[in-house]
Amino acid sequence: MGSDNTALNFQENLPLSREWKFADLLMETRVRERWEKVRKYFFLRESTYDMATRCNMRCDGCYYYNGEKQFTRENLDPQAWSDLFRQEKKRGITFVVLAGAEPSLVPDLLKACYQEIPLGCIATNGLKRIPESVGYKIHISVWGNDETSYRVRKARDLLKKQIDNYAGDPRAVFVYTFCRETIDEANEVAGILASHNCKITFNVFSTPLDYSGNLLHTPETLNKVRRVMIDLMEKHPEAVLFSYYNTVVHTHQSSLYQLFSCPYPRMNPSVTFGLGRSFRQYRTDLTWDRAAACCVPDTDCNDCRHYAAGSAIVTSKLSRHTGNPEIFKSWLDYVDTYLAVWVKGYEKGENLCSHIEQPPGF
Ligand code: SF4
Ligand code: SF4
Repeated sequence: MGSDNTALNFQENLPLSREWKFADLLMETRVRERWEKVRKYFFLRESTYDMATRCNMRCDGCYYYNGEKQFTRENLDPQAWSDLFRQEKKRGITFVVLAGAEPSLVPDLLKACYQEIPLGCIATNGLKRIPESVGYKIHISVWGNDETSYRVRKARDLLKKQIDNYAGDPRAVFVYTFCRETIDEANEVAGILASHNCKITFNVFSTPLDYSGNLLHTPETLNKVRRVMIDLMEKHPEAVLFSYYNTVVHTHQSSLYQLFSCPYPRMNPSVTFGLGRSFRQYRTDLTWDRAAACCVPDTDCNDCRHYAAGSAIVTSKLSRHTGNPEIFKSWLDYVDTYLAVWVKGYEKGENLCSHIEQPPGF
């Protein structure tokens, strides 16, 4: 999520190419309407919060159990979280991401947070249902079919349990992570999820620092992932929340950081504007560390293709995507997708661009 920066770049007055003025890009009615639709959300300003150090699973390649953040004390006092969120609201935070390790284990804290800042999202493994009274968007992580989930995540019948808990729930989006080992299972899993009326989006495994296991991508697997993503997007247009430009930037041989740089404090020294100014990544003891603050701490930036990272990195780069109408449409599709994935009640429109556009400069 990075609308904070999106808004910022818009206010900066777009550095447009000589050939295209911004008004020219909006000549087509459906493009203009989409622009008006997405720009209403430029007020979103995000921070993220680790809610628990405990998890009811143990996955190979988990970025949470990497680095220092896993060793903090849990603050289990709902009042302390209410107080923090009240302060966050004053700081201008309008969108919260509640994550690592497993937020469903602390429902009372989730309720306290929701009562203070009602726009946001929870990242969960989906084993334990989060009560209806917590009205955030809910992202359920799926890593392959049940056989692979058992091998990599040590959880039996995981997809079935996730579907039992969240099928038909308007809060839920199932996030399928493409690791090197889970590409061939995506078709089967997407088919099962689509047949249960579940919404699906895609993530690409991004290496935690110091990880060298079997989930790492190669240039060949990234190319394959792109083909599978496009295939699934076209096969299940009602279920899959994704766009052609999503497939391009998340499976590019260069990481998101290499394509676009990164606005999160961890890689952005500026404290005067955008995410560099406002974003914090709180740990379970309510402390935060600017040097580590991004949505996927302890991930290798040179391998960062994570869906959460892209939602900040790509959306914040409006000015890079105004060079011609097709790349602008691609960017709008990306923003439309991220809003549908992250914001409850936002409905994704039909993609405006139905072909591959390369990121500007690549
Ligand atoms: S479910 Fe999430 S937090 Fe828990 S071990 Fe797996 S990746 Fe880590
Ligand atoms: S891991 Fe990704 S989101 Fe985090 S600082 Fe690096 S590039 Fe940015």
